[in-house]
Amino acid sequence: MTSTIERIAPFKNEIVKNFQDPADAAAMKAALDEVRAAFGKHYPLVIDGRKIETEKKIRSLNPADPEQVVGLTSSASKAQANEAVEAAARAFESWKRLTLPERAEYLLRAAALLKQRRFAYDALLVYEVGKSWPEADGDIAEAIDFLEFYAREALRYAEPHPVVPIDGERNEMIYIPLGVGAVIPPWNFAGAIMMGMTAAAIVTGNTVVLKPSSDSAIIAAWFVDLLTEAGVPRGVVNFVPGSGSEIGDLIVSHPQIRFISFTGSKEVGLHINELAAKPQPGQKWIKRVVAEMGGKDSIVVAADADVDAAVEGVAVSAFGFQGQKCSACSRAIVDEKIYDEFVDKLKTRVAKITVGDPSDPKNYMGPVVNEAALKSISAYIDKGLKEGRLISGGKRAGEKGYFLEPTVIADVAPNATIAQEEIFGPVLAIIKAKDFDDAMHIANNTEFGLTGSLYSKDEKKIERARDDFFVGNLYFNRKSTGAMVGAHPFGGFNMSGTDSKAGGRDYLLLFMQAKTISRKV
Ligand code: NAD
Repeated sequence: MTSTIERIAPFKNEIVKNFQDPADAAAMKAALDEVRAAFGKHYPLVIDGRKIETEKKIRSLNPADPEQVVGLTSSASKAQANEAVEAAARAFESWKRLTLPERAEYLLRAAALLKQRRFAYDALLVYEVGKSWPEADGDIAEAIDFLEFYAREALRYAEPHPVVPIDGERNEMIYIPLGVGAVIPPWNFAGAIMMGMTAAAIVTGNTVVLKPSSDSAIIAAWFVDLLTEAGVPRGVVNFVPGSGSEIGDLIVSHPQIRFISFTGSKEVGLHINELAAKPQPGQKWIKRVVAEMGGKDSIVVAADADVDAAVEGVAVSAFGFQGQKCSACSRAIVDEKIYDEFVDKLKTRVAKITVGDPSDPKNYMGPVVNEAALKSISAYIDKGLKEGRLISGGKRAGEKGYFLEPTVIADVAPNATIAQEEIFGPVLAIIKAKDFDDAMHIANNTEFGLTGSLYSKDEKKIERARDDFFVGNLYFNRKSTGAMVGAHPFGGFNMSGTDSKAGGRDYLLLFMQAKTISRKV
């Protein structure tokens, strides 16, 4: 393999396309046609490099038109999940012996391949999870960023780690991999999170069993093929789609699994954490669990805020990708002095949001991911109608797909259900605060602590929020979504997870253990 490492440039974020450039728009249209032409294709399991078709399949449907089957993956049995763990354990014996720079090369090659196929991956996300063109490209740009960033981080960790010198000894501390990991990503950043979690685990020398979300298993199948093309040896990444309760529990509790890297809901994260804590016969370690979970994110709008900017920030944070981001704003906490103005302006802004098939770029909002999500979000809307005053939306949009109107409910009490539980859909609660103190108190009154924003021009309020707004990612005078790799290391407090700070300098440490070596001289 020719080394790209010596001439590696400093990390820079990929620029997300807005598709105003006619060449980009034409490329995206062509990619949508190409991906659509391959609808219905079957994707096998990949265990130890072997492709295995199973009888049982997982159908990945287009949420904008669920009659369209984007693709089918094989569904792993318990025996196959066990085989995948064993294959990863065998591959670990050689993969762990590569140096960090050697493994970084694979990530850079994968990033190069992904850049070449960017529009195809964008198009797949439009169909598989209902992303608009810019949202899909943002996801893939972030995936490229993770590959590029973690490759450089691996090089940094390969450098010596200083220890205090002692006479008569030569001492060093090195980082070594953990072992076999279960990588369990969500469907909502089906490209970025799935690839980022996998890349971080393997670049540090671990081997993995990748169990994708059933709603986004096709993009994971593409990525596993891409890694093979990039030269990643067989057994390093084993691909086993399947039911969470059936094979998820088995993989998590397998005695040869050393760590679990999970991103998803609080309920599943806590379940995995509990299961992983129980040692199994033959297990030699305490499993490490990295669990990034849900959010109930607030934007606080102070009396002195630029109300127009706050309205814009709240609208895009609440309704971008149909509110299905862990960082989505689902609570606007607004000072009573500007409350009515804010609500009026937000209503006007939300009325401009277009809802429809995201393969048509004129639509800002697409469908929610599946029928279960449609039902659960609709139930929250019904509840919300009793808990507040409907300002916008509240109904299904269209007949065929899983479309919902952008829904705003005002005058919601801080402890109401729709102000406390993660809805994960296009539903925003507006809460009236008596003053800034009250607003800060409300902002911290959930069990979560992922993202939050404050709109204010007052330095004192900004200082206060810096200290007291208890979230992993805090923003001032900007939206609460759109964290960039490297610039905004991402992860939350409390029930939002283990604060792993994906895309930050501490992240790779979570996949390694330190070994101190002392030699008498
Ligand atoms: P989910 O919890 O339903 O599923 C996540 C993954 O866990 C999927 O791959 C699923 O198949 C798997 N799974 C389910 N049951 C399992 C089991 N018993 N054992 C092992 N694996 C199992 O979440 P989702 O619907 O895919 O994603 C949405 C959630 O993810 C939201 O709560 C959102 O806030 C959260 N999220 C958090 C972050 C973050 O960084 N904090 C980022 C993105 C999404």
